[in-house]
Amino acid sequence: AMLQAKLGDGNTLKVFHINHQNEEMRPELYLVQELKEAIVNNELVVFFQPIVSVKTGEVHYEALLRWFSSRLGLVPTDSFIAAAEESGVILEIDFWVMGKVCEHLAAHHEELHHVSINLSIQTLESPDLETRLLSSCSKYGIDPGMLEIELTEHTLLEDETSLIKKLRCLRESGFKVAIDDFGMRYASFNYLRVLPVDKIKIDKAFVQNLKRNSKEDHIITSILALAKKIGVNVTAEGVETVEQAEILVAASCDELQGYLFGKPAPYEHVQTAFEQAKKQ
Ligand code: C2E
Ligand code: CA
Ligand code: CA
Ligand code: CA
Repeated sequence: AMLQAKLGDGNTLKVFHINHQNEEMRPELYLVQELKEAIVNNELVVFFQPIVSVKTGEVHYEALLRWFSSRLGLVPTDSFIAAAEESGVILEIDFWVMGKVCEHLAAHHEELHHVSINLSIQTLESPDLETRLLSSCSKYGIDPGMLEIELTEHTLLEDETSLIKKLRCLRESGFKVAIDDFGMRYASFNYLRVLPVDKIKIDKAFVQNLKRNSKEDHIITSILALAKKIGVNVTAEGVETVEQAEILVAASCDELQGYLFGKPAPYEHVQTAFEQAKKQ
């Protein structure tokens, strides 16, 4: 009501708008500035979540970034990644994660086996991505096959041909490539048709409602049958119950990931789990 009363008055309206804008802009600007400083201030940490191969029982890990901000506390990853993508800071962040992961792989190859990293489309489109990936690998003496690139896509593909070329080059250099969040938003059947990839990751939205004979059961079973036919591996993420795991195994899913097997955790946790498994 107060707003409506003020709307009759041009000046008040103007002031209202400026105030409104300022309130919305400030936290965003702070966030991006703080994100830039987070790397230097050692506030970013790479967490690792296990991914289990159904056939061999072998475990590898996905690197998931965490930001422990001195001012804001633990910032939800989805929200700061979105801000980083909008502002372009994502490039610096993804390259930092890449270096960290290579460092961990070099020091703890036996435990980590290989590691999946998430790269935003901007990072993938960066012209020196391949050079930087390869130089990280040679700096730490690791094989490109130890790195799997998960392509996270939050915008529509603009230049399909250049992305196809890029992915082809990366795979020729030995890196593995996966489509993340398959089935959601833009990451759909057309990607499977045009992009040269080794793997798709079925989004957790499908897995979380997965029960026998549910819609999700039929959708996932169809995706798996299709992926088998065209020779693409499938990982299901967000597996939380034994029933979900059983359905996925019965439908020949290649890899399972989710809280049922382990939450994302700092590297020390991976090491402890590894040592315990060795003792048994
Ligand atoms: P994503 O790549 O799809 O990763 C899966 C998300 O689901 C992660 O959220 C993970 O912690 C969560 N998750 C795993 N298992 C379960 C489960 O059983 N149940 C439930 N409810 N959740 C599960 P997180 O770690 O918050 O990351 C969010 C997103 O941020 C990621 O989604 C990825 O798109 C992006 N991201 C994370 N790290 C990076 C990074 O280094 N670079 C870029 N560009 N993006 C990143
Ligand atoms: Ca991912
Ligand atoms: Ca996902
Ligand atoms: Ca995602």
